[in-house]
Amino acid sequence: MKQAELQKLVEEISLQYFGLPFLHKATFNPRLRTTGGRYLTKSHHLEFNLKSYEQYGIEELVQIIKHELCHYHLHLQEKGYQHKDREFKECLKRTGGCRYSKPVAKSKERPYRYQLVCQKCGQTYLRKYKINPKHYRCGRCRGTLKMNQIYLTTRKNDG
Ligand SMILES: [Zn+2]
Ligand SMILES: [Zn+2]
Repeated sequence: MKQAELQKLVEEISLQYFGLPFLHKATFNPRLRTTGGRYLTKSHHLEFNLKSYEQYGIEELVQIIKHELCHYHLHLQEKGYQHKDREFKECLKRTGGCRYSKPVAKSKERPYRYQLVCQKCGQTYLRKYKINPKHYRCGRCRGTLKMNQIYLTTRKNDG
């Protein structure tokens, strides 16, 4: 989805569900990490997370837009526009906005790269970061540990 399409979508939802025009800018902000969107009280602009759309589809994005538009319109009307406010909660209910946006997954979860093997009982432990095995003992039998590196096979189409 392009910026211009997002702007148009926000304007349409604003008219259809709020009966009021959206007169500011709606953009995708790539720096938004875990949240689906946000309302900037100073500029009145809205920012959205493209990953919410990519991971959950248009329904999720529409719900987030409604949520942010509740902040937007209530703030401009000098009504209770914060999450705790009764007017905000009522606005979400009325328009079908989501209470919370679904969490967006981090683009790359760090894989396990190291395996610790107990020299006594054979118990294995996985680690994402390199550690000094001499500083640790087996949690099961207190035996000494040996570290093996796990060689990851990367697929070409990953990422
Ligand atoms: Zn909010
Ligand atoms: Zn052990």
